[in-house]
Amino acid sequence: MKEIVCKLLVIGAGPGGYICAIRAGQLGVDTVIVEAVKAGGTCLNVGCIPSKALIHAAEEFDKVRQMSSASDALGISVGQPKLELAQTVRWKDGIVGRLNSGVLGLLRKAKVKIVHGPARFRDGKTVEVETETGTQLIRAETVVIATGSEPVELPFLPFGGPVISSTEALSLTSVPRRLVVVGGGYIGLELGTAFAKMGSEVTVVEATPQILPQYDAELVKPVAKRLAGLGVQVLTDTKAKGLAGQGDALVIETADGREQSLPADRILVTVGRRPRTENWGLEELDLDRSGRFIRIDERCRTSMRGVYAIGDVTGEPMLAHRAMAQGEMVAEIVAGRKRSWDKRAIPAVCFTDPEIVTVGLSPEEARAQGYEVRIGQFPFNANGRAMTTEVEDGFVRVVARADTNLVLGLQAVGAGISELSSAFSLALEMGARLEDIAGTIHAHPTRSEGLQEAALKALGHALHI
Ligand code: FAD
Repeated sequence: MKEIVCKLLVIGAGPGGYICAIRAGQLGVDTVIVEAVKAGGTCLNVGCIPSKALIHAAEEFDKVRQMSSASDALGISVGQPKLELAQTVRWKDGIVGRLNSGVLGLLRKAKVKIVHGPARFRDGKTVEVETETGTQLIRAETVVIATGSEPVELPFLPFGGPVISSTEALSLTSVPRRLVVVGGGYIGLELGTAFAKMGSEVTVVEATPQILPQYDAELVKPVAKRLAGLGVQVLTDTKAKGLAGQGDALVIETADGREQSLPADRILVTVGRRPRTENWGLEELDLDRSGRFIRIDERCRTSMRGVYAIGDVTGEPMLAHRAMAQGEMVAEIVAGRKRSWDKRAIPAVCFTDPEIVTVGLSPEEARAQGYEVRIGQFPFNANGRAMTTEVEDGFVRVVARADTNLVLGLQAVGAGISELSSAFSLALEMGARLEDIAGTIHAHPTRSEGLQEAALKALGHALHI
């Protein structure tokens, strides 16, 4: 059996793992990374990037389709557009491929050794990897577990045939006529919206009383309105029960306890993701867990000395930028630097239509933590830029301490506002007060002026409302 001895072993080359390995390599740490499938992990191959590519293509198609209607307000006329999803998917795969090679190139540049194949723990510092050329033994002083997560499968709706996960949804080569999405969280709604724009009849089945249950109702309202405008049927308080007929229908139980059958060509199940912690020897390490996730401290240390864990495998929020930030921090710690982790300013973006951005505390969370709050909210229908782009729904909201004006949280819903997320995070990271945001000159005309106006509103002197 071939054997490698190294200082740092990273298991999993998703955004957490590859960033950790690159940074460690840059700092001169002798690093090996093992990847079972493809560098870039869920995010790059079957998550963030391909979903945003599909969302973009669907938006372009929908825009042209709207313009092709005789009543287009802008005076642009085009013919009826056609969508060839197989070509869209090839284009998306091209982007994934480019980024994939980019990650491998960056790892090589940082002098990280890449081993392809599934890793299995022998003990806390040793793994075996089944590579194409035989078993490789890797011993390391420090190990980082970055094995990510996978879609949760419902026992009564196993994946296969018409029942698909987000992974398969991103590679469909024809648009399903009737798509039922089980689970109205961000992944289900992002993909459901994209398919509705591409022409599917979409129904969303959500067990709780509200789609996007982790967001407050006010933020969700413009998204629900747009879904209705796209003809998407949203069934809340409704449970999926199983397949019916020849597998071409979904049995659901509605709020009043009645069972009903929904015809479907595809059933997309997006009811959450679970950490990849099983069937690769991790169980035998007996690490402390927090539910199904690996428990970590503020330096991403697990309960075993010299074993760190980062990214989705450690719990919520399961987001690529959280995994990357943890990976970068752990690499620096392994290289001897003093670092710790503060999750206060992790932005969350929902790429629905319109988009939702949140960072820090919502008004309810702030009050629940005992703060007396000052809130400023500015609607995009009073924003010139929003009017010129024809999408005026949504608002920006700032939540601050009433006594000091220290910003505790920022939320927004509106077209294209994912780009505001860095301004939001920066404000929290820098400990901004309402006066800092209000006193910053914001470019005109931009949607970001809504942020300044929201801060001014909280201070009691908004200028444009
Ligand atoms: P992963 O990306 O899951 O990577 C883990 C890697 O470990 C994988 O490559 C896997 O093959 C490898 N691995 C697992 N076990 C082994 C083993 N035993 N040996 C070797 N290798 C192993 N997040 C965002 O921030 N923004 C978004 O817009 C966004 N959109 C998403 C859309 C979809 C459809 C999905 C599914 C997810 C989305 N996410 C998004 C979430 C994001 O993809 C994850 O949070 C992120 O990928 C987590 O990174 P990670 O490094 O922890 O794990």
